[in-house]
Amino acid sequence: MRKKIIAGNWKMNKTVEEAVELAEELKRCYAEQTAIDMVLCPPFTALKSVSDVVSESQIRLGSQNMSSEDGGAYTGEIAHGMLKELFVRYVILGHSERREYFAESDALINQKVLKALEKQLRPILCVGETLEQREAGTTEQVVEQQLRGGLQGVDPMAFTELVIAYEPVWAIGTGMTASAEQAQEVHAFIRGLVRELAGTEAANAVRIQYGGSMKPANAAELLAQPDIDGGLIGGAALDASSFGALIDAATEA
Ligand code: PEP
Repeated sequence: MRKKIIAGNWKMNKTVEEAVELAEELKRCYAEQTAIDMVLCPPFTALKSVSDVVSESQIRLGSQNMSSEDGGAYTGEIAHGMLKELFVRYVILGHSERREYFAESDALINQKVLKALEKQLRPILCVGETLEQREAGTTEQVVEQQLRGGLQGVDPMAFTELVIAYEPVWAIGTGMTASAEQAQEVHAFIRGLVRELAGTEAANAVRIQYGGSMKPANAAELLAQPDIDGGLIGGAALDASSFGALIDAATEA
């Protein structure tokens, strides 16, 4: 059985004070829960403060990006060592906003995935098609290309650590959710591809999150699908009651 994983991507939101307040509220209810993995991904500026709040709880910390480099003259970048120092365990890589606004290629994302795994950080590798690509019938081709590119050189054993997030770009922040059937179809395709790339054990172990306007109203149906192992949450992660409802839904799924 794969343990469900719900991660909140706070994006470029929350001052340190607001971030601490949200983390504290969540800690009050979920500090001890171990039924699912619960991950908070605040902006870099709030990582240290949120890390202090969730230390000694079961809540895990993630970052929204990471450099593929070890350190040095890379203005504006953050290296793995800086994240590990703050007890970050997960790193979101290849989010569609990074791909679109910061021109991140599959090759660069692959370097980051390999670096994260080498340094014992768990990548959450995001893939997903745009509305045009879905309408053109190329969803599987797009997702396959992103996965083949992003996963190059990944050891089959690493699929117990690595998480894949299927995030249809047209569903992110738009309020349009993929139906449970649409999402399951792509998740099953992704698991099949992992089987082809890394074997049956890897395919059975890898956790595949759905992301794209997941909210309390649609979470139960999505999380009941056989190949949906959790959620990567944007908007609904910014509020303790909606994020809490998603944690509860995943716990009951
Ligand atoms: C995301 O950006 O990863 C995301 C899923 O956002 P939202 O939940 O707001 O659609």
